[in-house]
Amino acid sequence: MKLLISSLLTGLLLLGTAPVGAQKYPDKVITIVVPFAAGGPTDTVARLVAAPMTNHLKTQIIIENVLGAGGTIAANRVAKAAPDGYTLLLHHIGMSTAPGLYRKLPYDAVNDFEPIGLINEVPMTLVAKKDFPAKDLKELIAYVKANKDKINLANAGIGAASHLCGMLFMSAINTDLTTVPYNGTAPAMNDLLGGQVDLLCDQTTNTTSQIRAEKIKVYGVTTKKRLASLPKVPTMDEAGLKGFEVSVWHALYASKATPKPVVDILMKALQVALKNATVMERFADLGTEPVAENRATPAALRAHLKAEIDKWTPIIKKAGAFAD
Ligand code: ASP
Repeated sequence: MKLLISSLLTGLLLLGTAPVGAQKYPDKVITIVVPFAAGGPTDTVARLVAAPMTNHLKTQIIIENVLGAGGTIAANRVAKAAPDGYTLLLHHIGMSTAPGLYRKLPYDAVNDFEPIGLINEVPMTLVAKKDFPAKDLKELIAYVKANKDKINLANAGIGAASHLCGMLFMSAINTDLTTVPYNGTAPAMNDLLGGQVDLLCDQTTNTTSQIRAEKIKVYGVTTKKRLASLPKVPTMDEAGLKGFEVSVWHALYASKATPKPVVDILMKALQVALKNATVMERFADLGTEPVAENRATPAALRAHLKAEIDKWTPIIKKAGAFAD
């Protein structure tokens, strides 16, 4: 009998469903909460990954864009959601910068979630509106320093990756600029294209097609090496800002105390999605790649999140960038 039950359980797990309490999981729609605007980098990653997860789990997944406060409103929503695996959070590096940035964060980034797994790492690019008067990073720095009161820098709110990158840039050149917060870098990109804002540091998932179409100017990528997807663009380090490096990671979380069998099913679905041919192709074209399977796990994400909080908190404190 015991054997029968355990092989039944294994069979259900392999099918991507399992009895949890009296019910099997999943048996209704799953919502993935995305902290930024539709059409932006985080949303793009979520929608790409959700499609094969839907097929694997045989249940509908909807994306809900919960906007504001640099991603912290969305994170708080999932921290307080029922721990049943039906409300998930797909967030980025902001999970690790918000604890250093916000004096009063309404959730605990480490203890109020069940990590499911890492998804990908995405480089950033420093870009400007098309008619910005600087041809390379050195000229840009000189121009920005000489005209700092006239230049603005868009971001997706305090805690966003664009905020972090902008903060690192301003601190590297020792110049404060006016920042313009949006609910995501999709609307920020629209205003950059329209010339209403001057500068933006954003993920390649949002900038690659505009750079290729020459609708915006690009000054550097934030990785150690140049990207295969944008081979002519220098690294920020090569272009003049030595050691300037930031890489945005995305990850999937459930609420704290979500049962382990549910977390395991979601981890498996995520791992399947990361091997999906369309996901791999689109990621490569956008300058990113899925993490290896052993990083798309709760243990790897938990360790990464803690390490990133330890890395960014002192940098943020040193920059004096706090929010209430
Ligand atoms: N790229 C944005 C950021 O700066 C977020 C987004 O719109 O996805 O964090």
